Amino acid sequence: MKRILSERASQLKPSATLAISAKSKELKSLGVDVIGFGAGEPDFPTPAHIREAAKKSLDNGDTFYTPASGTLDLKKAVIHRFAEDYGLMYEPDEILISCGAKHSLYNVFHAILDPGDEVVILAPYWLSYPEMVALTGAKPVIVDTSEQSRFVPDPARVKAAITSSTKAIVVNSPSNPTGVLYPRDVMEGLAALAEENDLLVISDEIYDKLIYDGKPFIPFASLPGMKDRTVMINGVSKTYAMTGLRIGYLACNRKEIVKASANIQSQSTSNPNNTGQAAAVEALTGPQDEVARMRDIFQRRRDFMTAGIEKIPGLSVVNPDGAFYAFVNTSAFAGRKDVADSTDFTKYLLERHHVACVPGGPFGSEEHIRLSFATGEDVIKEGLERIAKACRELA
Ligand code: PMP
Ligand code: GLU
Repeated sequence: MKRILSERASQLKPSATLAISAKSKELKSLGVDVIGFGAGEPDFPTPAHIREAAKKSLDNGDTFYTPASGTLDLKKAVIHRFAEDYGLMYEPDEILISCGAKHSLYNVFHAILDPGDEVVILAPYWLSYPEMVALTGAKPVIVDTSEQSRFVPDPARVKAAITSSTKAIVVNSPSNPTGVLYPRDVMEGLAALAEENDLLVISDEIYDKLIYDGKPFIPFASLPGMKDRTVMINGVSKTYAMTGLRIGYLACNRKEIVKASANIQSQSTSNPNNTGQAAAVEALTGPQDEVARMRDIFQRRRDFMTAGIEKIPGLSVVNPDGAFYAFVNTSAFAGRKDVADSTDFTKYLLERHHVACVPGGPFGSEEHIRLSFATGEDVIKEGLERIAKACRELA
């Protein structure tokens, strides 16, 4: 019999983040008292005015196909937000609306990559980047960062990884899984490399509104000369607590990239869902006060969670500047009992103590686990008590 699966599909790993959150939701539905630190999604309800817009759209009968690349209204709303927030100006044909930022990334990688091309990815990375790049036949080239340098990349090491086949660098600041925001000089160092080596920068800015302590966000396209090289990726999932409505977008003034990405979309998913687009218009153009309110709550949870982690002997964490993840170093427990690495550590936590966390391996580090603090302080307190108990058992 002929081989059924393609080489690429057989190599592809399922998303560990989605798998862990599905597992913890399933256990909860079976009555198990699970603490879920897995999900990378806000626990807040979608703000009421956004839900109203979705309902209104349905009641208006807007339940048909929209243009495959998204509605003009939503493109204008995206343009409005980038202009108001960052002074970055785009035209409607420089925007593509997709079924989540994940889909935007998927489309653009397929639009720019051929087998043999290389894409530089900075570790720890969001686990979908290498998988998506590999799915195109191109090669993900991983550049490590060190925990001592707060997971901030060293442009000299990035430079050493660039070859004549390098097509793009992926930048994700604030980062999933570390929450770290890259300083301006490092961003400029990466921009200089892009310029010198004629590279594109895929800048995943999905956490731009979830930055703490008043630190400023630097859109990659705002760096000198970078607007022509940057594919800016963003979406409404995290900022407006709208993960399930599946709306993301990209902005890029290289129109041929937007067009090619839109063609891929038009031959695969067609338009992102109509109702979600209507809701996203309201999210981006309506009142923005809920965004700051949710951010402030996330900041308090971050402080609560990192302080709790630091109190557990054997664990350490780099303070996240943004996003809602703590990337916790668990290497002190490697080799204790049956725990060889972070995957075993998360298994131990889930099976014995009913705490769901994501292992660091899929993010590029077996020495860490990822805890999401997109959950209430009472849950964080209980979860950390259980983790402390597990650590005492393993010590
Ligand atoms: N990029 C990063 C870094 C993320 O953490 C996520 C989380 N889901 C996404 C992209 C995709 O988000 P979505 O598809 O929900 O817009
Ligand atoms: N991005 C989120 C996370 O990292 C959601 C899951 C996913 O899309 O992989 O947990």
